[in-house]
Amino acid sequence: SERLLGGFRKTSDRLATNLTGITAGGRLDEATLDDIEDALIVSDLGPSAAARIRSKLADKRFGATITQTELKEAVAEEIAEILRPVAKPLEITAFPRPQVILVIGVNGSGKTTTIAKLAHLFMEDDYGVLLAAGDTFRAAAIGQLATWAERAGVDIVRGPEGGDPASIVYDAVKQATDTGIDALIVDTAGRLQNKRELMDELAKIRRVLGRLNPDAPHDVVLVLDATNGQNALSQIDVFKEVAGVTGLIMTKLDGTARGGVLVAAAEQYGLPIHAIGVGETMEDLRPFDPDLVARVIA
Ligand code: GDP
Repeated sequence: SERLLGGFRKTSDRLATNLTGITAGGRLDEATLDDIEDALIVSDLGPSAAARIRSKLADKRFGATITQTELKEAVAEEIAEILRPVAKPLEITAFPRPQVILVIGVNGSGKTTTIAKLAHLFMEDDYGVLLAAGDTFRAAAIGQLATWAERAGVDIVRGPEGGDPASIVYDAVKQATDTGIDALIVDTAGRLQNKRELMDELAKIRRVLGRLNPDAPHDVVLVLDATNGQNALSQIDVFKEVAGVTGLIMTKLDGTARGGVLVAAAEQYGLPIHAIGVGETMEDLRPFDPDLVARVIA
């Protein structure tokens, strides 16, 4: 948690700076509440979460005197209330195995790294893991995933660059089933600039999976880069439409001041948040602990 605290420092400093001085008058009146709401919005929590926190504070404490410390604590509690319902680790429960986890997201979001982190996490829990290199579009993607697979000590099913992702996924499910794999993690192309093609490609992967197991994919995890702030949120809209999304992993929360976007995502979409990325190594995936994150942000 030290690492997490350190990672969120910039986010926390930003909100603290934005909240500083707001309660100087002492009373929680309309003007103070306006200032708090503005501070939350400019700290990337988004208009919806900001309005909700404002109204909760008003319900509980309107007219009361409140110190800076009490305000921070009250905001942290409201943030925790928003985050708690969406905190949901990615669990391996599929029967029959394998559990098929599609990982989607734009290039550069941290998709490949996150796949390696997930593989590492599952292997630490003694699950058998297999990767499928379904991003055949980007020249370097297959090689990058293979490098991570080697580091993590996990097998990878890959095809030629420009090959058909659905056929790789088909082979991967066969191999996973034959070898008793628990979790099959599938990389996918992140070329959002060609939405139609990406949609068709993901739909085809889904059709192939569905023929092998009607429950697959069991998870469709969208990887989002927190440093993109509100743009990360609009990616949720697009990917919900393109691929369906069952949960989120937000990356690069180390060293960004935009961690408030986690709260915005939770409030606006209510999608499960499985974990957060706080660094570039395989060990840098953290469970999403809503109370800890709320305390660290505010
Ligand atoms: P992809 O294009 O979506 O597959 O993204 P990559 O996994 O290749 O990651 C893009 C860059 O972001 C790489 O330099 C990664 O090391 C970096 N990255 C990924 N996740 C994190 C994270 O949680 N924190 C930090 N600081 N960097 C990350």
